[in-house]
Amino acid sequence: MEDEGWLGTQNADLIRAALFLIRTRTAETYIQKVKAHSGIRGNEEADTMAKEGLEKEIDTSVMIVIPPNWDYSGARLQSLTFNQMYRWISHLNQEGKDTAAQMIVPDILSEIYDQTGIPYTEQVLWASIRTPPIRREVQDFLWQAIHGRTVCGAFFSKWGEEWIDRQYCECGNLESLQHILTGCEDRPWVEEIWNASIGLINQARCMKGSTLSPPTYNQILAVGLLNTANKPATRLSKIIISETAYLIWKLRNAWVIRKETMSSERAIGALKETILKRAKVDLDSTRLPENRLDRKKRESKGLVTATWEVLLGNGSSSRSLRWTPSDHG
Ligand SMILES: [Zn+2]
Repeated sequence: MEDEGWLGTQNADLIRAALFLIRTRTAETYIQKVKAHSGIRGNEEADTMAKEGLEKEIDTSVMIVIPPNWDYSGARLQSLTFNQMYRWISHLNQEGKDTAAQMIVPDILSEIYDQTGIPYTEQVLWASIRTPPIRREVQDFLWQAIHGRTVCGAFFSKWGEEWIDRQYCECGNLESLQHILTGCEDRPWVEEIWNASIGLINQARCMKGSTLSPPTYNQILAVGLLNTANKPATRLSKIIISETAYLIWKLRNAWVIRKETMSSERAIGALKETILKRAKVDLDSTRLPENRLDRKKRESKGLVTATWEVLLGNGSSSRSLRWTPSDHG
């Protein structure tokens, strides 16, 4: 796989990290393939840990950063078949075309570095938007956002003549996702929804004294890297900020594409509904009888409960959660 430049290899980052660890180990390492799911202790334990890992929130302290002199990348020409070489070249071309992520990722990382002093890597950023508590659908949205694949603005220029006008916001500017989420002064409901959203976080007083301001576009895309000393606070902030960004995108689509009416009242109503729904799903997952919770769920129960406690009131959260779903889209 290494000789082929890791092209098309699943989990290449993990395998490369493992290779690095093996190469820097002073003792000899033997690798033996074992039969899966047949009661071999090491294999069963690895399975369990992998399943737990899937549910876990990202912990950047355990990510393995490979020093550049140990990181072999690129393909070894002599070991490539023609087919592999072709795939490699089209992969390079693809990367050249995919400039959106290439342009924005360094920007995001340097802004976050300025604010936190932590030099997050690109891999950590990608992993951070792919983990709970960010909801699956919202994870996909953030991924598309960083790749510039949300259908708006310049995207329409590729679709031909009759779509040209669709590139522009009603305020006259090109309608980029940044413009939609944080930049348009002609859509007061966007600012209102951010104020309400950040108000919820501050209301939970989870930032311990310091109050949060509405996020910049880069901070939204890097919401998975958000970190405070207080775990429930971090979790709540990630949930609220990511859900708010995704909701603004959905409301913008309802408005621009389906021509639905929009107002600050409707937007804030939709925000509250979204957050309460999320809280309900979250809390319901902890209300299963003890014997139906696996170890992981039992452990995270405290964190999930603490996430919503301050916002919804202690214990009697059902009062604020008497919520009935409606189909606002
Ligand atoms: Zn605008």
